[in-house]
Amino acid sequence: HLRRPVSFEGLDMLLRCSIGMAVYPRHGRNIEMLLAKADVALGIGKRQGGNTSVMFSPEFGENQRGNFDLESALHTAVDRSELVLHYQPIVDARNGRVSGAEALMRWMRGGQLITPASFIPLAEENGLVFRMGEWAISEALQQVRRWQLRGLGLTSVSVNINVRHLVQPSLTRAVTQALEATQLPPSTLTLELTESDVMQDIEKALTALRVLKDLGVRLALDDFGTGYSSLAYLTQLPLDLLKIDRSFIQEMQINPQQLMVVRGIVALGSALGLTITAEGVENREELIALQKMGCQLVQGYFFTRPLTATDFDTWWRQTRANPGLLVATGTGSHDAIVV
Ligand code: C2E
Ligand code: CA
Ligand code: CA
Repeated sequence: HLRRPVSFEGLDMLLRCSIGMAVYPRHGRNIEMLLAKADVALGIGKRQGGNTSVMFSPEFGENQRGNFDLESALHTAVDRSELVLHYQPIVDARNGRVSGAEALMRWMRGGQLITPASFIPLAEENGLVFRMGEWAISEALQQVRRWQLRGLGLTSVSVNINVRHLVQPSLTRAVTQALEATQLPPSTLTLELTESDVMQDIEKALTALRVLKDLGVRLALDDFGTGYSSLAYLTQLPLDLLKIDRSFIQEMQINPQQLMVVRGIVALGSALGLTITAEGVENREELIALQKMGCQLVQGYFFTRPLTATDFDTWWRQTRANPGLLVATGTGSHDAIVV
């Protein structure tokens, strides 16, 4: 029955369905256990491409079970405000002034700080990423407002957004509400979208990006260089910024060809009128190479790792007195430590 196309407004739509199964009493003696196991089986089916049914089996293992626990904990995390944003400064390579900050999400779970790589993929799978993204937009703008009231004139903050969020009407609503609540100019907010995701359904993205652009927010293509952008589309997307992926910056010094690629991206972006940010700048040599190419913005451990809002405030007050020093010597740990 589910395989039959459903007609809606002249379109024939095909539904896909996946089923996870668990059997009483073999897989559990209460409803919670059975649902948990069925959910694990469902997850496996979806990962195998969907349109299938899978019976739970004990060899699916602890790991899967862990994911289920994590998933229910993540639901409550959003409700109990266990999510926090850390901020990494984005520095103007020409003069060392702080041009903005990127908000990066962390999950404070029972006194332990969890990095996005451990929970964002799960949140993307179950759709929680939309609520999380909307929370991040509102929280980041409120933080800018709080900093401004404390005398820190930060005028730009970037928030990472999942590309599927673009077609949710709640996104534009959240952006508008957050801007109204803080009374900040729309250009204060930059939304970062990963290049590879945008390219996956470019037509849909294009329409949604134009709507956001009309609101006045700025748009950045993140992890640029990894997503095989068609150059034709690059000129059509209403972008403001390109962020060169960290992997290119890392390899630049050991591989002269990679250096040429980065130089090419900077030239291309500039020709298209886009601002170029290099991410993952970890040492002085990388910074100098980027400055020589004319790359405008830089971000990375060379300056500092992402900081809590309070530490960001302190860090900025310390560096503001002498911004030139920042691009001359940096302040961060020169060894890459993953937060
Ligand atoms: P991203 O947007 O590319 O963010 C940059 C990542 O690089 C951050 O990792 C940052 O801590 C790290 N980084 C910054 N400078 C350096 C450096 O010099 N060296 C090295 N090795 N790493 C550096 P983080 O915070 O773990 O975030 C990872 C990814 O998780 C982000 O990649 C982004 O795709 C995603 N993410 C973070 N926050 C959010 C969010 O609020 N919503 C969504 N949808 N995704 C988020
Ligand atoms: Ca980003
Ligand atoms: Ca990135």
